[in-house]
Amino acid sequence: MTALYPGSFDPVTLGHVDVARRAARLFDKVVVGVYATPSKQLLFDTNERIDLFRRAAADIPNVEVTHFQGLVVRFAQEIGANTIVRGLRSGSDFEYEFDMAFMNRRLAPDVDLVSFMTSLDYMFLSSSLIKEVAMLGGDIRGMVPPHVVDAVNSKFSSRV
Ligand code: ADP
Repeated sequence: MTALYPGSFDPVTLGHVDVARRAARLFDKVVVGVYATPSKQLLFDTNERIDLFRRAAADIPNVEVTHFQGLVVRFAQEIGANTIVRGLRSGSDFEYEFDMAFMNRRLAPDVDLVSFMTSLDYMFLSSSLIKEVAMLGGDIRGMVPPHVVDAVNSKFSSRV
């Protein structure tokens, strides 16, 4: 069984890697789908986001990282994934995922959703908070993989 784990991953955090790793234990293959054009302002372009996630998941053999555009369910069908994987941190994540799951089910009844409850250590991690902290000079080690710490810091230092 193939699962699709879609997201912006701008950049990948240890919370995302944890979800991918746990999904990889349940599914034969997990395709991480980096959403090429999210309605969010991005720090990293699509290729950078793919590269950062690939390196973060290099030790998980059944995880593949690629990009996609358009509807998540359509991409899931294209790659033969019958499950969409998402992570849940809080009540607000739940509300958002709940609405999206109903919409996706309506669009593609053959694609189901599996949500992973975040691990306690990563409960407060989000890509947007990490970017904000790094931009203000805070230490993001232990929240993202080491190569992502460097990539984020060099983005902000090159902006000054
Ligand atoms: P999106 O723009 O699609 O929300 P994100 O990159 O922010 O993309 O998140 C992708 C998925 O990973 C979402 O399901 C999100 O809830 C989940 N996620 C993000 N951070 C964490 C975390 N710290 N622990 C578990 N799941 C997470």
